[in-house]
Amino acid sequence: MSRTVYVNGDYLPEDEAKVSIFDRSFLMADGVYEVTSVLEGKLIDFDGHLARLERSLAELDMQKPEAFDDLLDIHRELVRRNDLVDGMIYLQVSRGSAGDRDFVFPDPDEVKPTLVLFTQSKPGLADSPAAKTGIKIISIEDIRWGRRDIKTVQLLYPSMGKMMAKKAGCDDAWMVKDGFVTEGTSNNAYIVKNGKIITRHLSNDILHGITRAAVLRFAREAQMEVEERSFTLDEAKEADEGFVTSASAFVLPVVEIDGTTLGDGKPGPVARRLREIYLDESLKSAI
Ligand code: PMP
Repeated sequence: MSRTVYVNGDYLPEDEAKVSIFDRSFLMADGVYEVTSVLEGKLIDFDGHLARLERSLAELDMQKPEAFDDLLDIHRELVRRNDLVDGMIYLQVSRGSAGDRDFVFPDPDEVKPTLVLFTQSKPGLADSPAAKTGIKIISIEDIRWGRRDIKTVQLLYPSMGKMMAKKAGCDDAWMVKDGFVTEGTSNNAYIVKNGKIITRHLSNDILHGITRAAVLRFAREAQMEVEERSFTLDEAKEADEGFVTSASAFVLPVVEIDGTTLGDGKPGPVARRLREIYLDESLKSAI
């Protein structure tokens, strides 16, 4: 079934939606994005995603799309028009098309940003088999640029990382800089040792995950101990548990790192509990 997508003010069948070949996200990866999960037809953590979008735009000196204040309505309209029950809404803003290729940013008075949104249907998103078995990961060097806190569409290296994992018979990769784990290819990374949840502190080295913020808040509310600091790959391999968080995976247990089994090789109790709390609480506040 053809989706209805949103492009610069219009709702269109997906095969009629068009963006210029001169669009800067196409030529220069000059664009930012957000992915918001939909469960039972409702948006999860929408305010967090909107706030991070605003920050990404400001950090890159990119103007807000004209429809910025209507984004909640646009998300809801796409859910409605596509009968979306469980899945995601992808949103991308680029610096637009100046009608040619030039490294210099176009004059924002003349060139308006491009705004695109589309839905991805994933029936049973919250019941993924991976949540029951846990995932296996490999480690790879983190060779991305230094502003990983901005959610840009430069996803070639994370995409290559997923392929490296796949080739190794694994599900994903954790990236490592100077011996310390930064994050997963599309998620934040955590280990658990003696009941304590350890995850890298916020800086320009990682994306400030919206799911991360919510999960850490729920963990603290549940009296779990949380430590936000860097951890090494060696420490991770000796941890009792591992897990990742992201808007579309929620909380996903990690059971193996570079062939080393964590704990008994099954999803650990902390990851399982956090997944349950996160899904319960976010559904309650979904809009
Ligand atoms: N880190 C990276 C590199 C990501 O791509 C993502 C997912 N977009 C995350 C972390 C998790 O962020 P969020 O919880 O906001 O989806």
